[in-house]
Amino acid sequence: MKRIAVFCGSNKGTRAAYAAAAENLGSQLAKRGIELVYGGGCVGLMGILADAALKNGGHVIGVIPQSLVIRKVVHKKLPDLRVVKSMHERKALIAELSDGFIALPGGYGTCEEFCEVLAWSQLGYHQKPFGLLDVAGFYRPMLQFFDHAVAEGFIRPAHRELILVEEDAEKLLHRLETFQPPAEVKWIKKPL
Ligand code: AMP
Repeated sequence: MKRIAVFCGSNKGTRAAYAAAAENLGSQLAKRGIELVYGGGCVGLMGILADAALKNGGHVIGVIPQSLVIRKVVHKKLPDLRVVKSMHERKALIAELSDGFIALPGGYGTCEEFCEVLAWSQLGYHQKPFGLLDVAGFYRPMLQFFDHAVAEGFIRPAHRELILVEEDAEKLLHRLETFQPPAEVKWIKKPL
């Protein structure tokens, strides 16, 4: 994997474990020579993640809409910052640039970003792996909800398996690297 996109909170959250996980993931990516693609912010877990990757000699690509650059939340020390016109353009570019996706804890923005990646995946628009870093059980309620959606017939079991879940960044990166898409998911092989 050359590049991985990470979605994560623009806040740090209440537990020290969240910031520690963002820092560890940033340094793990850098040490493995995997470039980080992310939302380009300097705030919350986003800033911690990017700083850790940079501190360990990693390459970081930030993709941010013009409106957020003006609001001064942009990370000013990125070697590669792509300023785009809209949130839609940002998500499309992040998806195009990346070979896989990871979500750390976050709020609406993070959930929206990774649910879109999963929705595209189940439709066969891409075959890139998605991993959830379940720090301190943060995503347990959401995973229970997805299981509920499977039981109620709204998510197919094969599509539920598209979510790779680990508590440890190294284990998660290994699962992304060895990911085989489920046979049930047909790949449309068309650009997004
Ligand atoms: P949230 O989980 O609601 O904090 O939103 C975080 C996600 O939304 C990140 O992965 C970003 O792509 C985007 N985002 C939200 N707030 C910002 C911000 N202040 N600067 C840059 N990106 C942001």
